[in-house]
Amino acid sequence: MILDLLLLFLLGLSFGSFVNAWVWRLKTGRSISTGRSMCPSCKHQLAWYDNIPVISFVFLQAKCRYCKKPISWQYPLVELATTLLFVGIYLHFSPISIQTWTVLALWCLASVFLVAAFVYDYKWMLLPDRFMLPVIAIGIVLVTMSGVQNGWQSVVPQLIAATVFTSIYLAMWFFSGGRFLGDGDIRLALAMGLLLAVPQLLVAVFVAYVVGAGVGVYLVAQKGRKRTDQLAFGPFLIIGLYFGLFWGEQIAHWYLRYF
Ligand SMILES: [Zn+2]
Repeated sequence: MILDLLLLFLLGLSFGSFVNAWVWRLKTGRSISTGRSMCPSCKHQLAWYDNIPVISFVFLQAKCRYCKKPISWQYPLVELATTLLFVGIYLHFSPISIQTWTVLALWCLASVFLVAAFVYDYKWMLLPDRFMLPVIAIGIVLVTMSGVQNGWQSVVPQLIAATVFTSIYLAMWFFSGGRFLGDGDIRLALAMGLLLAVPQLLVAVFVAYVVGAGVGVYLVAQKGRKRTDQLAFGPFLIIGLYFGLFWGEQIAHWYLRYF
């Protein structure tokens, strides 16, 4: 068990490192398969020992070995978040859904594509199709598998919820002229509708808006950001999606019992 966890931890770290590299290469137009990693400031090629997840960051004291420019906290944070998600999915889901493919799908979904989409949207206010389309595809596969296993009637409420939820986002996008949310958020809404059953979806939306409002109020109070400055909403929806995925059912049950 300890050995399993250690192995998962190391795998998670390398997935995190991959996500960082992928996001940066998508932004700069470099291919993920060619060339070695380089420092974004001085473009010096990084040796393998400059590129060990988290450890290099700590060892180099958050500065590039060659140009001494600070290395962004994004790198270790993304590596740690990916690792937590990677190990968390295994511990949370493997006892319930014994099918290996579900765990594999959730790994790709939650600890690669959604983390990459989160980082990209947070930094550049865009949810690239490169990340969102695989998320939607995984959602469709999971719904289809569920339909095949449990009968197609069982997925009808899911499909209705996904359609309604996506339509709400489509309408908000249309009537705001794309000012309040981008078209990437519509794809994210579709993915959430496909991935979460109705109670989980409601929990996800609730968490997204509460966290979003909290951060918004905090930023305005700090005066670091004017009220008019835009803040991407995708990352909050993704945080909500994680809550829905991991604890949506428990939170919904708890809510129904007490209110
Ligand atoms: Zn450098």
